[in-house]
Amino acid sequence: MPEGPPTEKITATATTFNTVYQDVVQNNGIGFDDPVLGAARRNTVQLAVDYIDSITNEAGICDILFEVSELDGGGFLSAAGTFFDSLPSPRFSNGHAFRHITTGVDSAPGWPDIFVVVDFGWNWNTGSGTPSPLQVDLLSVMIHELTHGLGILSLSNEWGQDPWIPGVFTHWDKFLETGNGNDLWDDVTALFVGQSSWLTGQDDGVVFVGPNAVAAFGEPAPIYAPWPWQEGSSMSHFDLGITGGAVMEPSIASGVMKREYTLVEVGALRDIGYTSAPALAEADFLTSSYTVGEGDGVAKQRLYEQLVHRVFRCVRPMFVSEAEAEDVTQDALLKVLTSLDRYRPRPESRFVSWVLAIAVNTARRRFRRKRPLRPRSRSGDCISCS
Ligand SMILES: [Zn+2]
Repeated sequence: MPEGPPTEKITATATTFNTVYQDVVQNNGIGFDDPVLGAARRNTVQLAVDYIDSITNEAGICDILFEVSELDGGGFLSAAGTFFDSLPSPRFSNGHAFRHITTGVDSAPGWPDIFVVVDFGWNWNTGSGTPSPLQVDLLSVMIHELTHGLGILSLSNEWGQDPWIPGVFTHWDKFLETGNGNDLWDDVTALFVGQSSWLTGQDDGVVFVGPNAVAAFGEPAPIYAPWPWQEGSSMSHFDLGITGGAVMEPSIASGVMKREYTLVEVGALRDIGYTSAPALAEADFLTSSYTVGEGDGVAKQRLYEQLVHRVFRCVRPMFVSEAEAEDVTQDALLKVLTSLDRYRPRPESRFVSWVLAIAVNTARRRFRRKRPLRPRSRSGDCISCS
């Protein structure tokens, strides 16, 4: 670390996090060195690190540098990244943080593994309490930013090229494809084999196809790939509202807490190489989240959040009206949540398949009452993935 000894040495359950706050090093009285709020802000970082460590569960080291805080309250709330080796190129890499955390090898001694900058000009909620509607949750944003540093980020520009280290992409990039199943980067050479228009959604969107994430989501998970391209956001996040409140959606709105990864995100971490992260076999998922009893409102709410977008995506193509598809989604989920005791795990049939079968049946009943106005050209999608 070039900026002096770690100001805080955080030994979480497994990984040792050496954290330098430039604000503290410079004793500048702002941000993390704020005389009133600095200690609480640093403690919030500790909470974020503890949470991440509880998931990644690796025994290595991670050097984090918090650069001098911004105070202007404009632009990004916070930004973070890690470093990548330039050779051999082209190829895929998770960057220095991943290597240091998973192997203990420091790729660039004297340099941080993850660098973060926070703009404290925004209205932040510090600590683990609930943010007010006007506050941005620092803990949520710190988990989000540090996760970029772990390697959940794309190195691509809007042309499919890495503008910083040509030819080097992340393992996250490696698992990105279009919704139509076309590869974006060759799995071996890391050469861009797609079209730039695909990076802004023109081939049925962009999806993450890592096997653990797909297992958790039930199909390739949608990636944020808007048109026009959004520098710093495109391709580095899961799509808005799709994965049930993912930490790695492109933005965290005021008043919103995203302090736990969704199962898709834990799966993605395993996919890119954090193999000590919990395996979310369907069975685990069932016992931890889906086996909820009567009166277990919190578990049901979480289950609802995990399923609502999945069910909506399944039934949406079957209806002309979005409102009607939403209505059917609600009906189907009500059915699911009130008949959980009837679900029987079977090796050949996954829970999500059972849910989607209920969704399709609910939609069909609606058809009987009311003739569909649009051919169900894509309804096979949700049946075939069940
Ligand atoms: Zn982000």
